[in-house]
Amino acid sequence: MIAPDVETGIARLRDLFEAASVIVPFTGAGISTECGIPDFRSPGGIWTKNRPIPFDEFLASQEMRNEAWRRRFAMEEHFAKARPGRGHLALASLYRAGKAPGVVTQNIDNLHQSSGIAADDVVELHGNSTYAVCLGCATRYELSWVKERFGSSGKAPDCPACDGHIKSATVSFGQAMPEAAMLRAEEMTRSCDLFLAIGSSLVVWPAAGFPLMAKRNGARLVILNREATELDDVADLVIRGDIGTVLSPFIAH
Ligand SMILES: [Zn+2]
Repeated sequence: MIAPDVETGIARLRDLFEAASVIVPFTGAGISTECGIPDFRSPGGIWTKNRPIPFDEFLASQEMRNEAWRRRFAMEEHFAKARPGRGHLALASLYRAGKAPGVVTQNIDNLHQSSGIAADDVVELHGNSTYAVCLGCATRYELSWVKERFGSSGKAPDCPACDGHIKSATVSFGQAMPEAAMLRAEEMTRSCDLFLAIGSSLVVWPAAGFPLMAKRNGARLVILNREATELDDVADLVIRGDIGTVLSPFIAH
């Protein structure tokens, strides 16, 4: 069912939330646009202007590593200032109320953690852009450290402990999906009786797989997105509207 208007959608969503025992939210870029985080894939987005750097090129070339870090630092004005939006706060409320065990996200902006969901309960399919890791020994490095080293040497630093390359903790094109996160996401998906897909066009793999998995497992499926998605036909409820507006009534104060 596609909600005829936002008010009807909110009322129906309230009923579904009340009836559900375990809600698993799955979020994409749309939940963070009101926070000033650009949707990289959208027309005019960063990825349509700058071809993303594939993982093998990052590994193969110092210049590509420099470029990757230059781009990351150029985006810092968006990421450093971003605060959780109404959608994040509503999901954190469901989490605190014990209705949602956590959240599965395609986003790399750390805003679910900032909204109060424990880091362990934020399942990040594409990693996290707010810190870096050594690809050799998995040591975590803060962006400020990378920036300082880059500034003084003029090139992207390698790990002082193992000489491995240091990369933002995101999953690049051509890089393997994080196995633990994928397993956890699957586990959560199978545990829920309400799957809530928010702000994702549900096209990019594996985004489309989880809602279908939930549905096949007997859960209800709600899709909240500004535009139509690939899975609207199989959803129990589709709300096409502004995510912050639709979810703000569910923020517990
Ligand atoms: Zn290392």
